[in-house]
Amino acid sequence: MKAEIIAVGTELLLGDILNTNSQFLARELANLGIDCYFQSVVGDNEKRLLDCIKIAFSRADMVILSGGLGPTQDDITKEVVAKYFGKNLVMEKNSLDKIVDYFSQRGYMAESNKKQALVIDGSIVFENNNGLAVGFGYEEDGKIAIVLPGPPKELMPMFKESVRSFLEKKQEYTILSREIHLSGIGESSASEKISDLIEKYENPTIAPYAKDNEMLFRVTAKGRNKEDCSEKLEKAIDEIVERLGEYIYGFDEETLESAVIKKAIEKGLTISTAESCTGGMVAARLVNYPGASKAFINGVITYTNESKHMLLGVKNETLSVYGAVSPQTAEEMCFGAARFSGTNIGISTTGIAGPDGGSKEKPVGLVYVGVAINGIVKVQRLNLKGSRNKIREATTTAVLELLRKELFKMED
Ligand code: AMP
Ligand code: MG
Repeated sequence: MKAEIIAVGTELLLGDILNTNSQFLARELANLGIDCYFQSVVGDNEKRLLDCIKIAFSRADMVILSGGLGPTQDDITKEVVAKYFGKNLVMEKNSLDKIVDYFSQRGYMAESNKKQALVIDGSIVFENNNGLAVGFGYEEDGKIAIVLPGPPKELMPMFKESVRSFLEKKQEYTILSREIHLSGIGESSASEKISDLIEKYENPTIAPYAKDNEMLFRVTAKGRNKEDCSEKLEKAIDEIVERLGEYIYGFDEETLESAVIKKAIEKGLTISTAESCTGGMVAARLVNYPGASKAFINGVITYTNESKHMLLGVKNETLSVYGAVSPQTAEEMCFGAARFSGTNIGISTTGIAGPDGGSKEKPVGLVYVGVAINGIVKVQRLNLKGSRNKIREATTTAVLELLRKELFKMED
């Protein structure tokens, strides 16, 4: 099945809001194995929207529209889709009751609010549990229109609760994907190590993606049912793990920080952070994981030489002889964090994030990260490129990756 996405809304054309609905829908379609070759954005204009729908249906079996379901006059999506099919709009009773009930508790209801309960006659209704505008799917002669509300907090749950299963039933096969997350290795090196597997496997397919200083492989199987897909996936994933296991920190929803925290909890180890150039980003990443307090005890940001000395006990001599950006300082920082916080693990970052402050010996992007576990320290030098923020983000990932590697090694 081929699908197209049309995002409706003049505000999108003007650049006032970002078209996140199309991104979300595109991803969902890809996961379902539904091909989507075109996306369009069109304003709240009857003629142009109708043209857009005609073009989309000339190329695809299914068109998914978002936006323009509100009560105001410029919300015309349903009317235009109905016009395309030559059908009438009818009131959907449950949605109308909901709207009437909603406003009876608040007093006055403008007549136009009822409009949000209209659907094309003969549609499958997608209930809106987060708003008043009902969504629906309408099918005629092998053409399917899916009409969804604009607000992402309404569209996304509606898709997950109703639309996804509606689409799954339309597919003659099942698609299942798994993500394998790697860090400490680039997209091209990782792909090279399994290039024969990428070529060999046709079902499942193996596709590499680069992602914010990390990378992932998405393995996607097509099969008769979920079990059939799982079986196909398992075989390919086993082969990838065998080759790249040391770089793999997790699957699917796992993040680098959740992998690190879980491993520390499992080993009964506690963590503290001492950050300079990252200014708290490492701590912020760690607390992304709910329940991080079982391992993450505290963090300090020591941005000046004085604070590195006072709060972490970095020796003045170290700072004056080697400088704040040096392996010696990184080492004393992570030792200091662990000592002052009484944790098993201390981690540190110190570097030149730019855009100023670089020199010939110590250019912008020179960073040292340190990890001390039970008194044994590992310091890594990084030569990073990019904007100040990019350097700080890459540093954060690098120190988490260093810690992950050390923690995973401890098992042996
Ligand atoms: P509507 O259904 O046109 O009344 O949509 C209402 C609101 O949903 C808009 O004001 C936007 O904030 C949001 N919205 C509409 N379309 C999109 C889109 N494609 N991506 C993200 N948000 C959207
Ligand atoms: Mg709108």
